[in-house]
Amino acid sequence: MVIVKTAAEIKKLREAGRLSALALKVGGEAVVPGVTTAEIDRVIHDFIVKNGATPSFLNLYGFPASACISVNDELIHGIPGNRVIQEGDIVTIDVGACLDGYHGDNAATFAAGTPSEEARRLMDVTRESLFKGIEMATAGNRIGDISNAVQTYCEERGYSVVREYVGHGVGRQVHEDPEVPNYGKPGHGVRLVNGMVIAIEPMINAGTRFVVQDNPNGWTVRTKDGKLCAHFENTIAITPNGPLILTDPN
Ligand code: MG
Repeated sequence: MVIVKTAAEIKKLREAGRLSALALKVGGEAVVPGVTTAEIDRVIHDFIVKNGATPSFLNLYGFPASACISVNDELIHGIPGNRVIQEGDIVTIDVGACLDGYHGDNAATFAAGTPSEEARRLMDVTRESLFKGIEMATAGNRIGDISNAVQTYCEERGYSVVREYVGHGVGRQVHEDPEVPNYGKPGHGVRLVNGMVIAIEPMINAGTRFVVQDNPNGWTVRTKDGKLCAHFENTIAITPNGPLILTDPN
């Protein structure tokens, strides 16, 4: 069931979103060669708690950390630990904060030092596809319009779209209806109305679209072919003035 939010709720979601975006920014700044993923997670955790919020993902479905931190061929759900980030690695941080009962959710892929040309282009295209999706998030459109905009933008540039994991509604729960796939047909799916709040989150592979979850930790999802992947996410509200990015740090 899709829960449409009131203006007052969207205000709260904006505050939670702002904090989530700042936590992502702080985490991104910590992505440097030589740091461990646990150290990045610690910086994020402390920032969220210091600001009177709680990390949305900590203990969610049993996840043991504040942020998902996934490196190179790891797509999502990387568990922070003693892995040391190397020069040129690309590091995806997915983090949410819960403030006053409402969540924000956002993700981005950051480079440690100077990435390869290949990695840089993948990150650029994935980030841009998120904004192509956001542009379609207006009342009267359908989820499929967002999905198709992301898919088309990425596939035209030679990348593939992961299908097993999708965006979602956001509110008092970090994961609500509806699902927001990154592939689909224009004019299909749930119709968008003002007050809907959704996370749009392209997960894009340099190689084939297939992913596997074979890590003994039971969480980390990586590309099946071992090639690079990237992931960008914003939580947005559908408003009479168009899409409003709630996870904007400003
Ligand atoms: Mg999400």
